[in-house]
Amino acid sequence: MSPVPGSGLAKGLAVTLRTMTKKTVTEQYPEHQPELPPRTRGVIGLFEENCTVCMLCARECPDWCIYIDSHKETVPPAVEGGRERSRNVLDRFAIDFSLCMYCGICIEVCPFDALFWSPEFEYAETDIHELTHERDKLRDWMWTVPAPPALDPAAEEPKEIATARKAAEKLAAAQEAEAAAAASPEAPSGPEGPA
Ligand code: SF4
Ligand code: SF4
Repeated sequence: MSPVPGSGLAKGLAVTLRTMTKKTVTEQYPEHQPELPPRTRGVIGLFEENCTVCMLCARECPDWCIYIDSHKETVPPAVEGGRERSRNVLDRFAIDFSLCMYCGICIEVCPFDALFWSPEFEYAETDIHELTHERDKLRDWMWTVPAPPALDPAAEEPKEIATARKAAEKLAAAQEAEAAAAASPEAPSGPEGPA
């Protein structure tokens, strides 16, 4: 059966009318900033103090877009007569975001919590070379990393906090005992026997 002339136009207008009465789903970016989920993978921040230059992230990156340079330095012994130690000093840490595929492997494998996701995504560039973020820029991204979500109330106390709490309690107890000993009268020098 051939379609009624003009039925296509009527159908199209019906769709237009239906859509006009619905709530819009598009957002007027950049006037309105999107509300992103907390685990958004926008850019990677580097917490340099935690990095031991173990190279694990660079080795595991499937795109080979992490560039790390370092040199070794000799550290004097911690105690007299001890041995000198050598440690790695970071010279360069860069990520090429024009190659990165945001898989998150580098963040997952870092054993020292030196890499973090930030939801920041406004770093488009007209020059592709500018998408290689050097360590200073990666460090600046750390300011945009959201705080970790609160622990479940029933969760076990984190090991680091438990250790720090125990050390603080031990120190407080030692200080209390010292103060009590200082406040009490002097103890007799020897055992007192019957005369
Ligand atoms: S997110 Fe993936 S691709 Fe990007 S730097 Fe990390 S490991 Fe490499
Ligand atoms: S894995 Fe972590 S500690 Fe090792 S080099 Fe990468 S960022 Fe630094």
